[in-house]
Amino acid sequence: MAKASSRKAKIPAKATKARHPRSIVQRKDISIPISVFGNVMKQFDSAAGKLKLDPSLREFMKVPRRSTIVNLPVQMDDGSFRIFTAYRVQHSIARGPAKGGIRYHPDVTLDEVQALASWMTFKCAVVNIPFGGGKGGVVCDPHKLSQGELERLTRRYVADMMDMFGPDRDVPAPDVGTGPRVMGWFMDTYSMREGHSVPGVVTGKPINLGGSRGRVEATGRGVMISTREAAKHLKLHLNGATASVQGFGNVGSVSAKLLHDLGVKFVYISDVNGAIHDSDGIDVHELIAYVEKNKTVVGFPGVKKVKPDDVLFADVDILIPAALENQITDRNARKINCKILAEGANGPTTPEADVILEKKGVLVIPDILCNAGGVTVSYFEWVQNRIGYFWSEEEVNRRLEEKMVAAFNDVLTMSLQHKVSMRIAAFMLAITRVLEVVQLRGIYA
Ligand code: NAD
Repeated sequence: MAKASSRKAKIPAKATKARHPRSIVQRKDISIPISVFGNVMKQFDSAAGKLKLDPSLREFMKVPRRSTIVNLPVQMDDGSFRIFTAYRVQHSIARGPAKGGIRYHPDVTLDEVQALASWMTFKCAVVNIPFGGGKGGVVCDPHKLSQGELERLTRRYVADMMDMFGPDRDVPAPDVGTGPRVMGWFMDTYSMREGHSVPGVVTGKPINLGGSRGRVEATGRGVMISTREAAKHLKLHLNGATASVQGFGNVGSVSAKLLHDLGVKFVYISDVNGAIHDSDGIDVHELIAYVEKNKTVVGFPGVKKVKPDDVLFADVDILIPAALENQITDRNARKINCKILAEGANGPTTPEADVILEKKGVLVIPDILCNAGGVTVSYFEWVQNRIGYFWSEEEVNRRLEEKMVAAFNDVLTMSLQHKVSMRIAAFMLAITRVLEVVQLRGIYA
């Protein structure tokens, strides 16, 4: 003991300053990092408390059933080898195979992947699809890797965890930093090892490889549908309503485009490089074309460049955080100035911020409802792969509309009945649905 503490004392002051990854936000007032998984557990506990859930069942439903960490050797283009740390977490398989994306990002941590996997369990239950929850991640910056390096990394990831995946076991999908191209390599590697094509092992594939029509736009479409339903509930007219969106990637841009088409005026938009503002409303279609070419919203002609925080604190009817976790915390929630907060991203709001927003009367559409359109169409993709027959985009969108509206109404009813926020209501609904299955199956213990 004495030896260890004397070693600790020699560490220079500079080295003791931990650099916290993005998922762990370092608060300036007290130096305790915010754990994203800790946030999910707090959300779960609030809802479980309302349901008076038995403590041992509560524990069983909270902890991830399996967390795997692997270190993947990958040959780089210059012939050298690099090791990439990678994760796959299966939170629950009670309602069906684990389902959840794979994230490629330099700040991926086990804490973040466990949080995202847990949200998937509850998200799938909210939209009532027969999946459990899973998530994966690789610590890497995909923008700094060549196509060849990305392909070798993806194939090695699949090969190292081959026995975990499968259409009836664990079905990944894209997340931040991955997309249809990566899912194509995933499907091919798995299929090569099985000796035949297995399209249902992964969703979010290119259409020609068995992907579903409507999948690329599904999450944004779900955000649009739930925002529209929330506006209906608040008697807020969308035509002429104002909005801002943080993050203009897949989810942010599609949500903005579809809401813009319903008459919503987007006055603030940001991405990782900066933020833009136009009080007359930004032409979202033109901005999408601009971003396709320039890879950023910055420099879009005819708008003002503003501070990134202006997007979050704008006086608007609708705010859509569509970037990353822990953006709205107890440090800035008081400055939020919107009627509807539609969580396109996973975990943008901390539980402490939720309390402040509730007092302010902001209607928060929680991530496990708001962005569930993506996993819903992933489920449709998996179904189409299994029956070997593919639906038209209209058919996919019609079924998505049905699922999202039903889920929104189920959560709203729970919220009004129990006088709780939409987030706690969504968790209560999800826990009830998972619990029903757990009790029917019994616990093999
Ligand atoms: P993406 O990589 O396509 O886009 C992310 C966007 O956020 C980019 O525009 C990026 O520039 C921006 N961004 C990053 N850091 C930012 C910052 N600090 N400030 C402002 N903007 C920032 O990713 P995506 O697929 O759109 O996912 C976004 C969020 O939605 C993630 O939380 C993801 O888990 C969640 N989500 C995605 C899907 C899906 O189907 N793609 C489904 C459910 C949830």
